[in-house]
Amino acid sequence: MPARAGSLRLDTPVKFLKGVGERRADALARLGIRTAQDLLWHLPHRYIDASTVTPVARARVGDEVACVGKVVAKQVSPTRKGLRIFSAVIRDDSGVLECVWPGQPFLDRTIAVGQTVLVSGPIRFYHGRQMAPREHIILIEAEGESDPLAAGKVLPVYPATEGLSHKIIRSLVERHLDELVPLAPDLLSDPLRRSLELLPLAEALLAVHRPTSLAQAERGRRRLAFDELFDLQLTLSRARAIARRGRSAGMRFELRRTLTTQLRESLPWQLTDDQRRAVADIVADMTSERRMHRLLMGDVGTGKTVVALFGMLLALENDFQAALMAPTELLAEQHAATLTRLAEPLTIAPELLIGRLSAGEKAAARKRIAAGGARLVVGTHALVQESVQFQRLGLAVIDEQHRFGVEQRSALIGKGAAPDVLLLSATPIPRSLALTRYGDLDVSILRDRPPGRGTIRTALRTEAQRERVLDFVERESAAGRQAYVVLPVIEESERADLRAATTMAERLAERWPALEVGLVHGRMKSEERDEVMRRFRANAIQVLVATTVIEVGIDVPNATTMVIEHPERFGLAQLHQLRGRVGRGGSDSYCVLMAGDDVPDRLRAFAETEDGFRIAELDLAERGMGDLIGARQSGGFEVRHARLPDDEDLLARTRSLADEIIEADPVLVRTEHQRLRERVLARYPRAVEFFRTG
Ligand code: ADP
Ligand code: MG
Repeated sequence: MPARAGSLRLDTPVKFLKGVGERRADALARLGIRTAQDLLWHLPHRYIDASTVTPVARARVGDEVACVGKVVAKQVSPTRKGLRIFSAVIRDDSGVLECVWPGQPFLDRTIAVGQTVLVSGPIRFYHGRQMAPREHIILIEAEGESDPLAAGKVLPVYPATEGLSHKIIRSLVERHLDELVPLAPDLLSDPLRRSLELLPLAEALLAVHRPTSLAQAERGRRRLAFDELFDLQLTLSRARAIARRGRSAGMRFELRRTLTTQLRESLPWQLTDDQRRAVADIVADMTSERRMHRLLMGDVGTGKTVVALFGMLLALENDFQAALMAPTELLAEQHAATLTRLAEPLTIAPELLIGRLSAGEKAAARKRIAAGGARLVVGTHALVQESVQFQRLGLAVIDEQHRFGVEQRSALIGKGAAPDVLLLSATPIPRSLALTRYGDLDVSILRDRPPGRGTIRTALRTEAQRERVLDFVERESAAGRQAYVVLPVIEESERADLRAATTMAERLAERWPALEVGLVHGRMKSEERDEVMRRFRANAIQVLVATTVIEVGIDVPNATTMVIEHPERFGLAQLHQLRGRVGRGGSDSYCVLMAGDDVPDRLRAFAETEDGFRIAELDLAERGMGDLIGARQSGGFEVRHARLPDDEDLLARTRSLADEIIEADPVLVRTEHQRLRERVLARYPRAVEFFRTG
C-alpha cells in the first residue's frame, strides 16, 4: 500500500518513499536502510568544506587527505600481474595529483575528463606522490552545474553502496528530511538535555544532514551519540545486574599484615603513588564480602607484577594459594623470575608450571600444588589442565587477559571455590571505555612509571640517514647493549614480508661479523622462537631482527635500541607496545622510526609522547569507534555515531544515568520507560535477552 501524503510514519518501508522504487529499495537494504527511520539515521560519515580539503601540492606521503580537483587526464593500464589499473590526474590551483584505482578499470565509464571530483585516501610514494582513493565523489558532472562546495557550504558525504551513489542518497535524504524530522520522538527531558548542553533531537537531525557549519554538524552528531551510548549503557547496565546476581559471594580475606607487610618492608624501592592506590583497591576488594573482579591496567614497565604480588600474599597470609597465569612460557618464566626476586626475603619461592618442563617435573609440580605446598603458582595455560588441582585457590591473576579465551579464564577461576580475580593488561585504554568494554570489572590504573629508569628518546629518521642509524646501532651493541630491528607484516603478502625480515637479518649479519644477529617471525614454531628470545635475553644475540611477534613478550633491560622500518604501517597502539620493549633498564634508550622524508602527523604525535593512555586516545580516534566497545566482546553492540575521545564524557554520563534507571526499573516496564525500551530494542535487537519481562 503506497503511503499517501501525510501518512508517512517512521516505520514506513523505504520503497513507499517518493524517489525510491523496488530496485533502489534493494540497494538501500544493503546499507541496512529498510524504513523511513533508517534513512533518517543514515548519517553522513564525513563532511567536506573548504577547510577540510587539502590543496594537492600539500598532500604529504603517509597522510590521509581529501582533495578536490578537475580531471585533466585518465587511462586504464595493465600491470605485470595482469591486474588493470584505472588512473586519473586531477588538478587544482596548487598543482596536479595522480590517483590510482588498482583492479577497478570499470571506473573509466564513470569518471570523465572535465569533471570535478573529490578524492580521499592515503598518499603514498610510487615513482612520485600518488593517492589510492578509498572514496571518490563526482562533485560537478558537467560545465554549468553548481559547485556544492561553493563559498561557505558544507557538503555531507553519505556512505554509499553499489548502485546507490552518495548523490542519490543525499537527494533522497534532502527530499524527505522536513517531513521525517518532526516524527522522531525526543526521549530526553529538557532540563537534562540542557544540563548536558545537547541539541533537541529534531535540531540535531537537521544539523547532521543539512549543516550550516562543521561545528553545527558536530553538535548534531553529539546528540545522536548521546542517545546511542545511552541505549548501549542501559543494555550493559542490565547485563551487569544479571551477572552480579549470578555471582556467588566472594571470600573475605583478612589483612593480617604478615607477608604483605614483610614485602613492603623488603622492597628495595618505594611504590609509586599509582601502585599504592592500586594495592589499596585490591586490599579493599579482597577484604570485603564482594568478590573481587578487577582489571589492573598499565603500560609495560609500570610495575603491575609487584601490585599483583601484594594481592597474592594477602591470599597466602590467609592460608590460601594464589596463581598467576601468563599467555606464553616466556612471560610465565619472566614473572616467576620477578616474583622469585621480590619474594625471596619472605622465603617464598613461586612454583612454575609450563609445558616445557619434563613430564616428571610437571607431575611433581602438580603434586605440590594439590597438596598446598606450592602456595604461589605461576604458569601458562598448563595451569588449567584437568590434572591440575589446587588445594585452596584464593586468588587467580591473569596476565594479558585478552590473549586468553573466556573458557581458559574461567577454567583457571574454576580451580578454586569462587576465588577473587585480578586481570592484568598492558594495553591502556581510557577508564570510561574500559568500564564500558569490560562491563562488570572494576579498574585500577598505573600511569606513572617508577623513577630511576632511563628515558626513551623517539627519533624520526630518513633513508638518507640510514647509515648513521646503523652505525649507531653498531656502537651501542659493541658497547655491550642490545638492539631490536622491527619489520612490519605486509598485508598484501606475508611471504614478501618474511623475505624482508630474513633479508634484513642476512644483510646485518654480513655487515657486523663481530655481532650475533638473530631472527624471529610469526612463521617460526613457538619453541624455536622462544629459543631465539632466550638467547637474546642471555645476550648471546646482540641484534634481534623481528616482525611484530616481539610486541608483547620479552623484558630485556639491556636492550636499549629499537629501529622500526615502515612505521607508517603500524597502528599507534602497536608502535607503542613495540617501543615498550626498550627503556626497561637504567640506561637511556632509543626508538628510531625510519619514517622517510614526509613524516605523517600521526607519527610526529607518537614521537612526542610516551603516555600510553594518550596514545590509546590517538589510536582510538584513528580507528574509529566501531571497534572501541569491542563489538565482538560485547556481543555485537555496534556503535555508529559516538567516537572517542570526543565523547568520553558522554560514555561516563550515560553509564551513571543508565545505572540509575536500571536499578529502579530493571527491564524497563514502567510506562514512562516504554518508548525507551522500544528504542533500545530497535537499536540493539540482541538486547532482548536482557530485557525479558515476567
Ligand atoms: P609490568 O608488568 O607492568 O610491565 P613489572 O611489574 O614487570 O612491570 O615491573 C618492571 C620492573 O620495574 C621490575 O623489574 C620491577 O621490579 C620494577 N619496579 C616495579 N615497581 C617499581 C618501583 N615502584 N620502583 C622501582 N622499580 C619498580
Ligand atoms: Mg608484566
